[in-house]
Amino acid sequence: MKWEDNVRKVVPYVAGEQPNKPNMIKLNTNECPYPPAPGVEKLAAGLNCDALRLYPDTNATPLVEELAAYYKVKPEQVFVGVGSDDVISMAFMTFFNSDMPILFPDVTYSFYDVWAELHKIPYKTCALDENWHIRPEDYKQENGGIIFPNPNAPTGLMEDLSVIEEILEANRDVVVMVDEAYVDFGGVSALPLIEKYDNLLVVQTFSKSRAMAGLRIGFCIGNEKLIQYLNDVKFSFNSYTMNYPSQVMGAEAVRDDAYFKKVTGKIVNTRERVKDELKKLGFSFPDSKTNFIFATHESVPAEDIFKALREQDIYVRHWNKPRISNYLRITVGTDAQMDSLLAFLKQYLAERV
Ligand SMILES: *Cc1c(COP(=O)(O)O)cnc(C)c1O
Repeated sequence: MKWEDNVRKVVPYVAGEQPNKPNMIKLNTNECPYPPAPGVEKLAAGLNCDALRLYPDTNATPLVEELAAYYKVKPEQVFVGVGSDDVISMAFMTFFNSDMPILFPDVTYSFYDVWAELHKIPYKTCALDENWHIRPEDYKQENGGIIFPNPNAPTGLMEDLSVIEEILEANRDVVVMVDEAYVDFGGVSALPLIEKYDNLLVVQTFSKSRAMAGLRIGFCIGNEKLIQYLNDVKFSFNSYTMNYPSQVMGAEAVRDDAYFKKVTGKIVNTRERVKDELKKLGFSFPDSKTNFIFATHESVPAEDIFKALREQDIYVRHWNKPRISNYLRITVGTDAQMDSLLAFLKQYLAERV
């Protein structure tokens, strides 16, 4: 078939599975185990369906204004998209157009190389050190742009802002994106640095800390000029990316800061408790500042544990990839879910050893 010569061929990103079993414990895609803010539920119940007749606001004004107020920036500094995946893909298309390779860590969010391939952007990965930290000197080579999550995924480790600033200092002439999907679980945001660096884009999402993965809401904040360029590309692609319910429900979630802090605080408390328990069972892990723990066991292979958990309908994430094949990424769920996980692990490991 001749037409196949001209197909844009890509190896797609593989998301964590979304099983749907009645009593499953789903700890494989870093979703929030608690519901979205109560006001969001009210809006969902009272949704005015007549509003769906009309195209949504192309600028997603309700959400952009709420985010601008919350993060104390101008609305012109906020760009929203259909999940941060959409925001980052759009940003790759907009900002990574040089012939030099873009840089990101070897162990990181596995969508970056997929977008680079899709948009035909050359890229190079920089190996994390043996403790899973970014080596800032790796990012001092010539490049066409930089992206990394902070905290990183799937390691859960956070880099100090001084590391990010060191990378920014060495890269004033390319766009640097910090993917802060997990920053709300005790991380420190690079957002204040946008004042100093007009090439810094900070990306965040409602999918993890705001319990709204199903609505697909992501955003980024940066210099007005960066946001203008992003909007130019977006409006050349699809003017109506974000639907109306997402715009109003997203804005409502931002307004309820007390609920947001309560939920993220609860997850952090559970995480710290689970770290202690996992240690007692012979696991070790980088010191997570996220809603997941990247754990390896002292004697039992990760893949065996992964399969045993799966048989119990407890889903965690495992990759057959270099450096990380003996690790499991375990999302922090409710206390009850984590207790079930720990109880099973305790029994399983006792029988294995
Ligand atoms: C989950 C995640 C995203 C994407 O989340 P969306 O649901 O598309 O907002 C982006 N980056 C990292 C590192 C993630 O873990």
